[in-house]
Amino acid sequence: AAMRKSRIKRTKTVCTYCGVGCSFEMWTKGRDILRVQPLEEAPVNGISTCVKGKWGWDYVNHEERLTKPLIRKGDEFVEATWEEALDLVAEKLGGIKEKYGPDSIGYIASSKCSNEENYLFQKFARGIMGTNNVDNCSRYCQSPATAGLMRTVGHGGDAGTIHDIASSELIIVIGANPAESHPVLATRVKRAHKLNGQKLIVVDLRENELAQRADLLVHPKPSTDLIWISAVTKYILDNGWEAKEFLQNRVNGFEDFAKSLDKFTLQYAEEKTGISQEVLIQIATMIHEAKSVCVLWAMGITQHKGATDASTSISNLLLITGNYGRKGTGAYPLRGHNNVQGACDFGTMPAWFPGYEPVQDPKVRERYEKSWGTKLPTEPGHDNHHMVEAMHDDRLKALYLFGEEMALVDANSNFVQAAFEKLEFFVVQDIFFSKTAQYADVILPAAPSLEKDGTFVNTERRIQRFYKVLEPLGDSKPDWEIFQELANRFGAKWNYKHPSEIMDEVASLASLFAGVSYERLEGFKSLVWPVSADGKDTPLLYTEKFAFPDGKARLVPVDWTPPFEAGPEYDLHLNNGRILEHFHEGNMTYRNEGLTHKVPEVWLEVSHELAKERNLEDGTLVGLTSPYGYVEVKVIVTDRVKGNELYLPMNTREDNEAVNYLTSSYHDLITHTPAYKEMGVKMEVLEQK
Ligand code: SF4
Repeated sequence: AAMRKSRIKRTKTVCTYCGVGCSFEMWTKGRDILRVQPLEEAPVNGISTCVKGKWGWDYVNHEERLTKPLIRKGDEFVEATWEEALDLVAEKLGGIKEKYGPDSIGYIASSKCSNEENYLFQKFARGIMGTNNVDNCSRYCQSPATAGLMRTVGHGGDAGTIHDIASSELIIVIGANPAESHPVLATRVKRAHKLNGQKLIVVDLRENELAQRADLLVHPKPSTDLIWISAVTKYILDNGWEAKEFLQNRVNGFEDFAKSLDKFTLQYAEEKTGISQEVLIQIATMIHEAKSVCVLWAMGITQHKGATDASTSISNLLLITGNYGRKGTGAYPLRGHNNVQGACDFGTMPAWFPGYEPVQDPKVRERYEKSWGTKLPTEPGHDNHHMVEAMHDDRLKALYLFGEEMALVDANSNFVQAAFEKLEFFVVQDIFFSKTAQYADVILPAAPSLEKDGTFVNTERRIQRFYKVLEPLGDSKPDWEIFQELANRFGAKWNYKHPSEIMDEVASLASLFAGVSYERLEGFKSLVWPVSADGKDTPLLYTEKFAFPDGKARLVPVDWTPPFEAGPEYDLHLNNGRILEHFHEGNMTYRNEGLTHKVPEVWLEVSHELAKERNLEDGTLVGLTSPYGYVEVKVIVTDRVKGNELYLPMNTREDNEAVNYLTSSYHDLITHTPAYKEMGVKMEVLEQK
């Protein structure tokens, strides 16, 4: 036995399939993954995982992994050395910057990659390339929640921890499907509901798994959440149920806010949302009777034209009822990607440095200029949405994107892909040859989380360390190493030997992370930001102060924005989202044998009523048309959806099934998050089973 060469190695890692942030040990022998072992000491999940965390890892050894840099030659890609590829990227980006100016290049970061990688990427874009045109995929999902919280309570993150949710008396879940998108968090809710008598209200178009267990299930008309939330808030005020002392001592803006609710009568809300007045009163009464209330929400709220305002209305309701600053209260926007919180926290956003400090603030800029030894741009850059528009009208000439399947995941895919075709130069850095990579000029092979060190931030602001389990496959490299090698081709003298040195730099610059270090994150240790210099973290926010200079929260009056309507011939409403077995578009999970075996293809959910009317059965092939595109997909008849509502998961194996060929470029008016959920389609039957 002593002669055994390859022993079983156990390495701690953090799951990359959702924002819950489960951690576990991975048992490996050579490159074989033998087992995923969750342990009691994991701060979020303990001994639980979901099916993706347990079985979703053999993609790292998939034969389609990119293992060599590729350079486009006409219609083909040819293998290149790192020298050749990075020299070419530096030459082209440098040339375009020279010719058209720094703002002619865009940088799209990855919410799947580490904090340190996101930090270095924005340092490269801002400090070396001289532009704030840097963004990440939170623009596609939770930016409106961040904005709604920043304007009301100050921090754009969950108010407390996932454990705190379990101690709440009443949980309201709006436009979220945690049982599939955040499974271990949903398990906590299910348990608290069953064992602790916790009450559960679910508001959704679709009867997802949690909805089936709810004490009250509410089905509003699409895109009307702000109205019912405001009506419930008004009803609470009209009955004198508001938290008077809390409002007096801790909240600004009450008078104006109360006035702004005038129009949101129960009758108006019933008309617009389809929720009866009795149910609205029931919601208000349940909130009034509960000692602690927290609201969980996701894309059902944030992917609309009025999404920031709808998110704001949730925070307003929580403030009016004094539901902040205690365990089991507060706002919980549920983060989708494993590190979408961290990508934003660490600065890959067009208006903010790491820790949400504005690029326009000269004092902040000065701090970064001193540290980075460079002059920095003064105005916010383009977000993802603007970048696509700027590609179309020739203002953006080049794009550098890593770890993001933008061609299928951004809304209005045909429009986005046409924008890629107009680029003079396009760099894609990824682990697989994605749809997006087909448009690239240079493709750089990156290493996934299992092949590098780093940290992620989960939905509850918890920073956790992950360790290298395997060596990078072939010639692939960790993203941070690639950025460093590229930066040094522009004369930088970056010499980070390990991501811990990058974290030290961030801690010295951004006060939100002042006390974060790899030592304090060793093994299963974790820190929840803000972290003060002495290492004290903040699992529960707002216990004494809100994050504004005077310490008081702000009630913000908001109004309803009607949704985009495609026109009367688009007679069906198409909703979309995730499923348990696949992650996002599916580039990783479809390359896992077990998960793909379980759910090999995507399907369209239709209601029994619609199935009867249009003669559909399980397996019928239909075509869906919107003003923006067309997809073909097989149907499944289910009671999860009702009437004329359809549901198409966003994961896709075949190009022509991707839901975003149907979505529009309409977006939240404040953050530009696409209005993915406002979609009308028409259906034709192509082939009976
Ligand atoms: Fe991974 Fe999320 Fe499942 Fe946990 S709940 S194992 S983080 S996908």
